[in-house]
Amino acid sequence: MTRRYRFPQMAVRCPWCRAAVGELCTNPRGTQARRRDTHDARRLAWAMTTRCAECHADPGQACTTEIHGHTIPLPDVHPTRTPTTTP
Ligand SMILES: [Zn+2]
Ligand SMILES: [Zn+2]
Repeated sequence: MTRRYRFPQMAVRCPWCRAAVGELCTNPRGTQARRRDTHDARRLAWAMTTRCAECHADPGQACTTEIHGHTIPLPDVHPTRTPTTTP
């Protein structure tokens, strides 16, 4: 369907280093591209473009878990919350 990126999470802008869609993450000064991975925040932002099937978090909302009746936000997303990329 759309063009493929080196990392699927490059389909969203990086909230951490502000790398644009389709561009590699860079160091804080924007002088060096990260070629091996992207920032974790970007992976989370990308995962959050979908709804979580596990905790039913809406797109844009962080994953949560329930402990003793309290809803606790998770520091990460559920592993199953991955936007499907059509090859
Ligand atoms: Zn980044
Ligand atoms: Zn979740």
